[in-house]
Amino acid sequence: MRALLKNQTGICVDTIPAPAVTRDDDVIIDIALAGLCRTDVFVAEGRIPAKTPQLVLGHEFAGTVSAMGDAAAARIKNGARVTVMPILPCGICALCRAGRAISCQHTSMLGIEHDGAFGEKIRVPQSAVYTIPDTLSFRHAAYSEPVAAALSVLKSGIRPEEKGVIYGNNRFGQLIDRILRAYGFHDITIVDAADADGVEDGLYDFAVETLATSGMLRSLMRMVRVQGRIVLKSRKHEPIELVLAEAVRREITLSAVNYGDFRESIDLMASGKIIVDDLLGEEHALEDFADVFERSKTHETRKTFFDPRK
Ligand SMILES: [Zn+2]
Ligand SMILES: [Zn+2]
Repeated sequence: MRALLKNQTGICVDTIPAPAVTRDDDVIIDIALAGLCRTDVFVAEGRIPAKTPQLVLGHEFAGTVSAMGDAAAARIKNGARVTVMPILPCGICALCRAGRAISCQHTSMLGIEHDGAFGEKIRVPQSAVYTIPDTLSFRHAAYSEPVAAALSVLKSGIRPEEKGVIYGNNRFGQLIDRILRAYGFHDITIVDAADADGVEDGLYDFAVETLATSGMLRSLMRMVRVQGRIVLKSRKHEPIELVLAEAVRREITLSAVNYGDFRESIDLMASGKIIVDDLLGEEHALEDFADVFERSKTHETRKTFFDPRK
């Protein structure tokens, strides 16, 4: 099959053996569309360590089931339209065994530790596979992972009657805004770095960050009321400055949240409770990767997709 690979010489489109069923719970999916995420660019650039010597990139996708092992066949049918939660829990730790796999700390990820979705086919464990309704397009289904990441803000303890601010007028900020509104929040503002200085002190009950910097955290600390909450969403690896005296004096709660429920994310789009069409952008052939990767660093408004059949 054709796939977009990271190998020792760099990033390239090449023909490699298609994945086959090797274990009872394997599912093979023919990829219809795969979304490009900043994580994929970081992996491509070597900023996130990944499987060697060769890795198929990509982790946000949807497609059609084309083969599976016997155990998977008990739950999934050939030809089913599906999407996949790309973060795979270990399945053996105490949290996984207690039915809390969503909190597993020994996860691995498609497109990082396992071959990913920028290819014609992918092999995944059946537990990660979610069927999608016929009414949901592959474009939308391939966007389920960002929706699940945004949905996690509801786990932070914020309440619909509260007044909130989202820091970062980017695609992810827009998505969080729509999710909050779908869950009954009606007093939400999105601000950018440029507007931050003009915001009155203590105006908001909570703030959600999507692009962490020390300056941003300082602004948010000021914007939320005494005993307010800051919800941490971005995945920055570098340390960020936080003035503890300020946080303690104002009794600010910091809530870091990871993923919401994957099925709920699919249902949110399928039911029309959130409309994301305008956040979804162009579909490209794998061969366009160099341009597409480069443009994703500056053009953040719409999600770009690869169609491996193109
Ligand atoms: Zn992603
Ligand atoms: Zn685990």
